[in-house]
Amino acid sequence: MVNIRENLARLREEIRTAAKRSGRREEDILFVAVTKTRPVEDIIEAVRWGVTAVGENRVQELLEKKARWPENISVRWRLIGHLQKNKVRKVFGEVSSVDSVDSLDLAKRLSAEGERTGRVLPVLVEVNTSGEESKMGLLPGEALPALGKIIGECPFLSVEGLMTIGPLTEDEARVRRSFASLRELAEKARREFSLPLPELSMGMSGDFSWAIEEGSTMVRIGSALFGERRGT
Ligand SMILES: *Cc1c(COP(=O)(O)O)cnc(C)c1O
Repeated sequence: MVNIRENLARLREEIRTAAKRSGRREEDILFVAVTKTRPVEDIIEAVRWGVTAVGENRVQELLEKKARWPENISVRWRLIGHLQKNKVRKVFGEVSSVDSVDSLDLAKRLSAEGERTGRVLPVLVEVNTSGEESKMGLLPGEALPALGKIIGECPFLSVEGLMTIGPLTEDEARVRRSFASLRELAEKARREFSLPLPELSMGMSGDFSWAIEEGSTMVRIGSALFGERRGT
């Protein structure tokens, strides 16, 4: 049996330690529990012990879980996986943020839905810092101009920062380089667009301590909290 409460306590301790090493506090880093493939009961357990934000990467699964979610328990739902344009309408009103905006086209669709429904949606723009072909996200070379267009042409999006998935390797230097490149990109973007862009969503179960040391403000943790996933 996986003990969610104990895992959470251990993870919090590791987050605290990494935050300290980078001159920050645990409260400066948002813990996003990644709940894909997990039953609602496990998510409720995590929220019971203090999780305030959950990340799902598929629209259908997110909607099914929300439909079964108890009304009296509050948590923020974030979409962290690739969003198909034809699902924008379905998911727009159901999430507190879309952390995986990976094209100008998608950003425009989301903003149009914001205009239609009268709501500004917080988003993160995903950048493929590792260059791995299997990963979504803007390529680093195109990220700054694309970000400029998203900011300029999508009045119903509030761009809060950037998101990336580190390379699939145990090579610490490579993983850190990928995270550092996201931080540097955000620094450039802040200067160029005069926006705060405070959020850097980076770090998962295997690399969140490095990510925090490289400036992450938001870690997305699944298997280290809930146990290994079967299947996907
Ligand atoms: C699954 C997933 C995670 C969490 O991965 P773990 O290794 O289980 O912590 C984080 N971010 C995204 C985008 C994911 O799809």
